[in-house]
Amino acid sequence: MKTKFVFVTGGVLSSLGKGLAAASIGALLKARGLKVTIQKLDPYINVDPGTMNPFQHGEVYVTEDGAETDLDLGHYERYLVQPMAQINNFTSGRIYHSVITKERRGDYLGGTVQVIPHITDEIKEAIKSVARNNEDVAIIEIGGTVGDIEGLPFLEAIRQLRGELGKENVLYIHLTLVPFIKAAGELKTKPTQHSVKELRSIGIQADILLCRSEVDLAQDIKSKIALFCNVDPDAVFTAKDVHSIYELPMALYEEGLDQKIAIMLKLPAKNPNLETWKGIVHRLYHPKGKVSIAIVGKYVDLKESYKSLHEALIHAGLENELEVNLKYVNSENISSENISSHLQELQGILVPGGFGSRGVEGKIQAIQYAREKGIPFFGICLGMQCAVIEFARNVIGFNSANSQEFDPGTKHPVIYLMKEWFDFRKNILQKRCEQSDKGGTMRLGAYPCVIIPNTLAGKAYQKDQVMERHRHRFEFNKKYALDFEEKGLIFSGLSPDESLVEIVELKDHPWFLGCQFHPEFQSNPMHAHPLFREFVLAAGKMH
Ligand code: GLN
Repeated sequence: MKTKFVFVTGGVLSSLGKGLAAASIGALLKARGLKVTIQKLDPYINVDPGTMNPFQHGEVYVTEDGAETDLDLGHYERYLVQPMAQINNFTSGRIYHSVITKERRGDYLGGTVQVIPHITDEIKEAIKSVARNNEDVAIIEIGGTVGDIEGLPFLEAIRQLRGELGKENVLYIHLTLVPFIKAAGELKTKPTQHSVKELRSIGIQADILLCRSEVDLAQDIKSKIALFCNVDPDAVFTAKDVHSIYELPMALYEEGLDQKIAIMLKLPAKNPNLETWKGIVHRLYHPKGKVSIAIVGKYVDLKESYKSLHEALIHAGLENELEVNLKYVNSENISSENISSHLQELQGILVPGGFGSRGVEGKIQAIQYAREKGIPFFGICLGMQCAVIEFARNVIGFNSANSQEFDPGTKHPVIYLMKEWFDFRKNILQKRCEQSDKGGTMRLGAYPCVIIPNTLAGKAYQKDQVMERHRHRFEFNKKYALDFEEKGLIFSGLSPDESLVEIVELKDHPWFLGCQFHPEFQSNPMHAHPLFREFVLAAGKMH
């Protein structure tokens, strides 16, 4: 059977949860025994989000193959429980870059290069390339909102694909908003009508409408929308606001959305097995206890910057049957005078990844507080580097210890740019991310890590070796390894050749661990990541 394509577009306004809707549809179709893949097309001109400011764009999600991608890919992995890769995310910038490279190479034989057909052809190739393993369904989410100038080439490409792939192989789902106007006590369908009309003016007739709403849409409203928007009367679905994002697959299933998709595309779908999703929802509502955890970072004003981290903590809560409450603390506001007021009544402290020196000293103080007061601590990437600096300064006595990132001339560069590795890495990374000039020096993607038994890491993973994803330039400086070991820091995760320290931890502490990689990218609601699971478990014992 040929792969069938489901295109998900959005109308009226942004942030309606298109990514989550696409991911939930994927999860439901997968639960029906279908082989599913999913892709995000982003209309912005950046080649990838790697260089974008987390304050503006939110998290950069890193895939196994080292691609820096949109955070929706994180949702895809968490809902579908299958790894995403570079091929699952294209931006306009990447499409244009590829077309311009071809033009410079002379591939177009002197022809005039235009949006139609050259850009649209490139987009169609990108879309078709994602279904490379005989998937039954490929779900393609188009970023942005219908009506944006930037999104037009993508919409034109998916319009053309219906003709090319055949009507029976293509389905358009449009997500809109049906606002409830309190003063009138009424649901308003006009924005949806306009948005569908806008889409039609580009030549796309939506097949299914998914209407985001505060309340369930009654049948008469659905019929009215169907009539005005020219869709089947049973092709209008409510996407009701949910308390937790993990309720969405069940909510859409109860609406009958996946069944309608299966019927319209004539998919060989079985009855879905939704036990796992039901279990997740049950556990969400029946925790046996509570735990409060501080995330001490710099990007706390835009929670999207810590998306995967936030979710990984929720997953760890689900597995430990604990409700996890998160308190985001801006590390720039932490001082020795006010630290206890920021961190009191919290059972765990997490310092996440980050770039640049802003707020670093506050993070180091929070780590000292966790270490000295015996509060479970989890440091991720920059968080681990800060834990190393804190230990060097306050336990070993290297008062000016620092990372070369923040003080290039520091006397004790305990975190440094590893020259030999840097060159080697530049070589392999140039191949891995040909288009990324700035990101070309980062260690990106999955690398093996050997786990030392009888450590916190060993207990968590129960494995000798794991693969974990990286996104950083600096490393622990092994020149100082003995100084650290003598004072009790344990290296519990190393690269197979032992040149790189991947995990550090402390004995004689309830739970204190830092890792150079980003475990949050591999957590999902079915299986919390082992390190998050153990961290939250330790925090839960602090009451
Ligand atoms: N800035 C640090 C580095 O480049 C840490 C990066 C991170 O936390 N992702 O090594």
